[in-house]
Amino acid sequence: MKYIFVTGGVVSSLGKGIAAASLGTLLERRGLKISLQKLDPYLNVDPGTMNPFQHGEVYVLADGSETDLDLGHYERFTQCVLSRSNNVTSGQIYEAVLSKERRGEYLGRTVQVIPHITEEIKACIRRLSWTSSVDVVITEIGGTTGDIEGLPFLEAIRQFILEVGIGNAIIVHVTLIPFIRAAGELKTKPTQQSVAKLREIGLQPQALICRSEKPLDREVRQKLSLYCNVSYEAVIEARDVEHTIYEFPINLKAEGLDSFVCKALKLQTPEPDMASWEGFVYRVIHPKVRVCITIVGKYTELQDAYKSIYESLTHAGASNDCGVDLTLVDAERIEHEGAEKYLRRTAGILVPGGFGDRGVEGKILAAKFARESRIPYLGLCLGMQVAIIEFARGVCGLKHANSTEFDPATPHPVIAILSEQLTVENKGASMRLGRCPIIIQKNTLAYRVYGRTEIQERHRHRYEFNVHYRAQMEKYGFVISAISPDGDLVELVELRDHPWFLACQFHPEFQSKPNDPHPLFQGFVAACIANQP
Ligand code: GLN
Repeated sequence: MKYIFVTGGVVSSLGKGIAAASLGTLLERRGLKISLQKLDPYLNVDPGTMNPFQHGEVYVLADGSETDLDLGHYERFTQCVLSRSNNVTSGQIYEAVLSKERRGEYLGRTVQVIPHITEEIKACIRRLSWTSSVDVVITEIGGTTGDIEGLPFLEAIRQFILEVGIGNAIIVHVTLIPFIRAAGELKTKPTQQSVAKLREIGLQPQALICRSEKPLDREVRQKLSLYCNVSYEAVIEARDVEHTIYEFPINLKAEGLDSFVCKALKLQTPEPDMASWEGFVYRVIHPKVRVCITIVGKYTELQDAYKSIYESLTHAGASNDCGVDLTLVDAERIEHEGAEKYLRRTAGILVPGGFGDRGVEGKILAAKFARESRIPYLGLCLGMQVAIIEFARGVCGLKHANSTEFDPATPHPVIAILSEQLTVENKGASMRLGRCPIIIQKNTLAYRVYGRTEIQERHRHRYEFNVHYRAQMEKYGFVISAISPDGDLVELVELRDHPWFLACQFHPEFQSKPNDPHPLFQGFVAACIANQP
């Protein structure tokens, strides 16, 4: 078993997760079995309770764990199947240690960061390698070198490497080489200092992934090699990608990262087979048509909040040889200024998931505009709930219909809390979460899109369609196209008299991959192309 630790230096947001995922792509395509893990230094037990403004998207795994969005990159860039043990936070580590302490398992000893917290961290890394029979575990450490909260993780890694032996583990440090315009030079000092910081705690990186705007010349590489104590060939240039993040593995391969890593870990493997990956990247860069799609959401100014949705649209675009031009509209603007102004010219409307009532009326107006103007509509989770509210109000004449999430006293609760949620008191990990089977009815748009009747999709919600209103809505052309196997839960809905209107209670965006786009996104983009004005 071999281990690769990915640390980050100088600043955050260097794309450490994408770097780790890209290394995963390359090793996997060399025929190795890998797993990817993220250790996050914050104290939340998982990011599920965090606001997207704090943390970006919460990525939901098949087993229902709510994880960091980097796990989305891991799943999209590789074939690995991730679960709870692939994302560990300080909160989880402390929770485990404190409950052991309460059970008396430390037998009267003083419980300390070293060795108890560090032992628990090491156990999490070991547990992953035992449970997922793989050749290589890639563990990314969240945060930036020098952060106080990251120290126990780095100390744990030092001990871990000592235990598994040098030659079985390496550290890859992702760092920034800033270009100082006034001097016209790339500067290596911040990287030197962040590597010095690692060495202070006994860690020596074997490779540097250098994020920079400009190419690294020989002199800069030599300087980095000499002062950071890293061999010349292990100074890897990672310039900002030109078109898409999916170029990243290709660029790292050209710089020789994967061959260096295999050499350092004594892994004998052939060159990676990148043909299908390169084919995908080519299609992303050279679309034959372009289409304009509008997302009506709440966190539109935040790059990371709808990450998986953007990626799914890229995958679906490529499979349709189409470039997707995304416009993000704040639902509150539509609420105040009307839908017409923002949605008149778009080829398709997507309403994503969300919580709380801010902007909901704007999302309802967006669904109404899509229905009335016959624009393709894809609703995800809350995007399905608003489509139902809209249809109840606008077509079935149920004035003031609403979800009890937004109006507990509504006369027509067409969306209501899941019965299993009634007794739930804690907020953390308490929604209906994770992958569940779903049955699609034949003779529906959903069936045409998926091409089969049995599917599995990932969920994250507390509210559901109130089936009490089913017959009343169906009478007016509302179609329930998929349900849970027990028949209790509505999973997909569509409109009979509309060219392409589909909304789902689940989150298809968590199951789309570059060369395996999700059928809902694929079908939606195709419908948008057909509708392009
Ligand atoms: N707030 C809604 C619910 O809890 C929708 C959730 C979501 O969009 N993820 O059911």
